[in-house]
Amino acid sequence: MATLGNPQNTIAVLQKYNFNFQKKFGQNFLIDTRVLERIIAAAGVTKEDFVLEIGPGIGTMTQYLCENARAVAAVEIDKNLIPILEDTLSDYDNVEVINDDILKVDINRLAEERNGGKPIKVVANLPYYITTPIIMGLFESHVPIDSITIMVQKEVADRMQVGPGTKDYGALSLAVQYYAKPEIVANVPPNCFMPRPNVGSAVIRLTRHTEVPVQVEDEKLMFRIIRASFNQRRKTLANGLNNAPDIPLSKEKIGEAIAQLGVNPSIRGEALTLEQFAKLSNIIENMLK
Ligand code: SAM
Repeated sequence: MATLGNPQNTIAVLQKYNFNFQKKFGQNFLIDTRVLERIIAAAGVTKEDFVLEIGPGIGTMTQYLCENARAVAAVEIDKNLIPILEDTLSDYDNVEVINDDILKVDINRLAEERNGGKPIKVVANLPYYITTPIIMGLFESHVPIDSITIMVQKEVADRMQVGPGTKDYGALSLAVQYYAKPEIVANVPPNCFMPRPNVGSAVIRLTRHTEVPVQVEDEKLMFRIIRASFNQRRKTLANGLNNAPDIPLSKEKIGEAIAQLGVNPSIRGEALTLEQFAKLSNIIENMLK
C-alpha cells in the first residue's frame, strides 16, 4: 500500500536515513495524498502501461505508480536516495530504479526494451531547474510517448498553454503545442511539498498529437526561426530573423518571405501562430534550396 503521501511518514523516512535535501537537485517532495491521486488520475495510468518516472525522490509517487501501472522505471540522480528507494519500494516487483541523470538516459532504448517500442507514459514531479530540457529532450528525440503528466512551476505551465498575444507566449509554448495538447489539471500550493518551494506549482498533462497539427518540411528550421523570433522580443520579426546567424538569408529575402506570408512587414514574432510559423518556415526552406 502507498504509505508516504503525508508529512509524518515522509519525515520518518528522512530521519531514518538521516537524509539532507539537496537544493541543486530541486528536491521538493510531495506530502499530499489528494495531489498524488489527482496526478495518477490525470495521467490515466492503467495496468497496461509502462511508466517512466523522472526523479522519484523517496518513492512517494512511485508507490502510487507501481500500484496502478504494469511496470515503472524511475530515474533518480541522487545516489543518497537509492538505499531509501530500495526500502520504500520493497513491496513492489514491477519497478526498476535507475541511478542516473535523466538527460543522459537513452529513453528510446528504455521504451524499446521495456515496452516493445510502444508509447510510454511519463509521470513526474519534475526538478524545476531542468524542466525545459527534459520536456524538449523527450519530444525532440522522438521517444514514443502517449502522454507526459508533470508537476512544474505554475508560470512554466502557463507558458506551455498560451497562444499569441499574451506575455507568456514563447518558444516553449510553440514547441509544446507542436508536439502535444497541453492541459493544466491542477494548481498546487507550496504547502503540499517538503520543503516548500518559493513558487506556485501546477500539474500539466501533455497529450501527444497522433498527427502533427501543421505541415512543416524542416522541423529544425522552424524551431530555429521560432527561437530567432523570440530572442529579441521587442524587435520586429524581420529584425529578429536578420540578426540570426543560423538563418542565412539577406534582408531583402527575409522581407520577401514575410510578404509571402501575407502579414504586416513590421509584425513581431510574438504575434504569429504556430500555423504561421510553419508556413514561414516552408517559404524560407524553399528560398534556401
Ligand atoms: N517524485 C518525488 C516527490 O514527488 O516527492 C520527488 C520530486 S523532486 C521535485 C525532484 C526529484 O528529481 C528529486 O528526487 C531529485 O533528486 C531528482 N532529480 C533532480 N535532477 C535530476 C536529474 N537530472 N535526473 C534524474 N533525477 C533528478
